[in-house]
Amino acid sequence: MTLTVLIVSVVVVLAVGSFVFRAIPGVRAYFGFRGKRLITCPETHQTETVEVAAGEAAVGAFLTEPTLRLKECSRWPIRQDCGQECLKQIEVDPENCLVWNIVSKWYEGKSCVFCHKQIGPLHHLDHAPALLGPDHKTVEWREFRPEQLPDVFTSHRPVCWNCHVTETFRHLRPELVVERELEAKRSR
Ligand SMILES: [Zn+2]
Repeated sequence: MTLTVLIVSVVVVLAVGSFVFRAIPGVRAYFGFRGKRLITCPETHQTETVEVAAGEAAVGAFLTEPTLRLKECSRWPIRQDCGQECLKQIEVDPENCLVWNIVSKWYEGKSCVFCHKQIGPLHHLDHAPALLGPDHKTVEWREFRPEQLPDVFTSHRPVCWNCHVTETFRHLRPELVVERELEAKRSR
């Protein structure tokens, strides 16, 4: 009886150990491949947004190695039957084509064009910073399609969330905005 318990315990420990051992690359693949990415479409040579099936890559990594397949592409459904050749670009450099990283890098070290305060690092739960377009309107970066961003970043300027809210209000209700210079008295 004691021997049986011991054998069962050893088997359970080995099973749990090997599961954990295989789960680590699976979890790493899931977090490594989730999210929208920008690639250059090998067919059109245009920037497109794609998303890898991260769950499938995780299962692949759990069993043997991650199998990459697209879950979404901005050219779908028209070109849904393409060979997904762009996956090679993701395999080579999964970090640099991630939309979140591209946007973070663009805002890094930049200051708001209105208040000149430096725009802090992007956070998923924080208010998103915005952009000032050539039409003098501010737009949150998330409102653009990701594949538009490389062009948008050349024509727009960075705006912090607070100034974006103020500017939006100024555009919507200009009659309610009163421009006031800081009174000299107040600072005395
Ligand atoms: Zn600002």
